[in-house]
Amino acid sequence: MDATNVLITGGCYCKAVRYECRRPLTFRGLCYCRTCQMISGGAGNLFAAVDAPTFKFTSGNPRSFTNTEHPWRPTRHFCENCGVHLTARSERAPSAVLIKVGTLDDPSIFEGPQVVTWTSEKQKFHLLLELAHRYRSGMATWKEPESCTELDAWIDGHWQEVEATAFGLIARSRDSLYAQS
Ligand SMILES: [Zn+2]
Ligand SMILES: [Zn+2]
Repeated sequence: MDATNVLITGGCYCKAVRYECRRPLTFRGLCYCRTCQMISGGAGNLFAAVDAPTFKFTSGNPRSFTNTEHPWRPTRHFCENCGVHLTARSERAPSAVLIKVGTLDDPSIFEGPQVVTWTSEKQKFHLLLELAHRYRSGMATWKEPESCTELDAWIDGHWQEVEATAFGLIARSRDSLYAQS
């Protein structure tokens, strides 16, 4: 199991912006949405969630951008010197800070994504299968949600439990729900 309360540190390329937070990583994901493709350089975005109260920027002042047209009003924080994106927050999950795995001082603690999101927007050259089997384990209380709101509530309440048993299941559900809205 993931250690708790262990310090995690990271920062941007030019070292102007630094942050720290505490384990555990409550959620580990890979997002293939078009926004993440754009911001990551094309490969999708590997992110780890930590509890927001443990997170703080310890040096530098990141710039931020909030997409006010998006229903979850995601805010992304980045270094104004070197342009590296460090974190994102979303009104969908206000208790979490999403950290870009590449900005961790020790990215190996990530270990790999539990869930892949936005597979509907992934490209043909984005790979899924190898990850699928590596993170197979129980997701006992999962049930197909009726709406994005219900799905989001379930994820919020089951950070620890979301494993990739049904690899892409959450992603597919979200995709189909999103397509209806
Ligand atoms: Zn920087
Ligand atoms: Zn994304």
